[in-house]
Amino acid sequence: MSDTRPAAKLIDGKRISSEVRAEWKVRADRLCALVATPGLTVIMVGENPASGLYVRNKLRACEEMGIRSELRLYPADTPEQTVLESIRALNADPTCHGILVQLPLPPQISVRHALEAISPDKDVDGFHLYNVGGLITGETVFPPCTPYGVMMLLDRTGIPVTGQNVTIVGASNIVGKPMGLMFLQREATVAICHVKTRDLTQYTIAADILVVAAGQPNLVTGPMVRTGAVVIDVGINRLPDGSLIGDVDFDSVSRKASYITPVPGGVGPMTVTMLLCNTVAAAERSYAQLKAA
Ligand code: NAD
Repeated sequence: MSDTRPAAKLIDGKRISSEVRAEWKVRADRLCALVATPGLTVIMVGENPASGLYVRNKLRACEEMGIRSELRLYPADTPEQTVLESIRALNADPTCHGILVQLPLPPQISVRHALEAISPDKDVDGFHLYNVGGLITGETVFPPCTPYGVMMLLDRTGIPVTGQNVTIVGASNIVGKPMGLMFLQREATVAICHVKTRDLTQYTIAADILVVAAGQPNLVTGPMVRTGAVVIDVGINRLPDGSLIGDVDFDSVSRKASYITPVPGGVGPMTVTMLLCNTVAAAERSYAQLKAA
């Protein structure tokens, strides 16, 4: 009889996320005791149900961490100018350390204008061009939360990155591309694949570390993965029955991989956690600058 037990060890995003949050809560508490409470403001325009759920999760997580959070909810027809003025006022507000503009935005508001209006010192999502450009030189103030969370999962699991062959499936501005630059900064050898990549398997099979962020359920299957590879599934896909699955066929891939992240419970919890860390880091930087002035 063949052995059908999964070979891969699970990378438990919930557990690692709790550990990271506990460590950063100590830093948040220290700031509260010494100077002031770290503060995050979320700007949301219109009531997209999925965005609403994400925002509520972020605000609840802030409360648990001891971060003061505020939601500025604008009607869907709010002019761009109003949102930009609100962001500029927050840039000048010393009690606000992090500003997050929840995407998507309605069509009359340019995503680029909104993101560029945020001060890079308060850009805790890491989407401002300054922070994006810093990924090239390794000087990013705030790394984007999902790739930062993936790196944290690997580091906390003790998986070496330097010198490894890394393949990323997905080349979006928020996940795939910054992920690739972060691996390159750590001296991994990186291939970034996308929807036009010919023969995807040629790249996935070569990977010591495979990160999949394509938004395509079960895109990566066992035969596409090298035996012993580390597989990180960023994808979140909702099935008609309401359940969530990733981009990786967990059953077949977990029999080939050495480590694998589950969906849910893998990368997902880390994304919000890294937002909290970036916000506390923003408050720490702000007070360090005040002290130095
Ligand atoms: P996106 O739609 O912006 O980009 C998808 C990328 O995948 C594109 O570069 C596209 O070319 C590539 N792609 C699509 N189909 C492909 C295929 N068949 N072969 C190879 N490449 C293909 O998506 P995104 O915002 O980067 O998100 C990707 C996935 O990650 C989604 O499922 C999203 O829900 C999830 N996500 C999860 C988190 C988290 O916290 N876990 C955070 C962000 C995004």
